[in-house]
Amino acid sequence: MFAVGHLALGYLAGKASAKFLDININIPAVLTLSIIPDIDLLIPILQHGGPTHSIILCLVIALPALLVWKKRTTPYLVTLVSHPILGDYPIRSSNVPGIQLFFPLTSNWFSAGTEVARLAYVYLELALFSVFLTLIFTTRDIAGLLTHHPSNMLLSIPISTGLLPVFLQFPIPVPVELIAPHLILIFLLALAIFIDLKHILRLHYPF
Ligand SMILES: [Zn+2]
Repeated sequence: MFAVGHLALGYLAGKASAKFLDININIPAVLTLSIIPDIDLLIPILQHGGPTHSIILCLVIALPALLVWKKRTTPYLVTLVSHPILGDYPIRSSNVPGIQLFFPLTSNWFSAGTEVARLAYVYLELALFSVFLTLIFTTRDIAGLLTHHPSNMLLSIPISTGLLPVFLQFPIPVPVELIAPHLILIFLLALAIFIDLKHILRLHYPF
């Protein structure tokens, strides 16, 4: 799955679990966690899809937060594991490396996707992105996202990890149908960062 699909899926998974538990979530944190396993793309010693995609390591990392914040951690954990379980495992086909879903219990690579269904996955990501866009406006999450908050700075992670690198390669590695959604997300997230930066500058340099 590409960055657009992961962000949309993570947001929807986080929102659904937060609604079920009747708690509020921090949208920049959710968007960041939805793509954080792909940080391995920026670390040369790690193979993409490796240990950062292990649900066991996700649970181990989340354990201290679960002990401290209990159920308030759940939507963030659901978002984090949505990346390997729903975003990568069902979609990666056998002709590309899968993901090390159960590292360190096993170093095997798992995948369940097929090359034949590649086009269907593109439309699935488009559908997820459409639902994401509709929900952030109807739930007014967009208003919160575009209000200054220190957590907005977290959004530099999804931009640098998954969204911007797409346009730094030639040929562009995403299907043409997903280029506009990538650009829309870069614009929205960069705007949220800009709003927070502007607020910080105003605080320190009032004029
Ligand atoms: Zn991934």
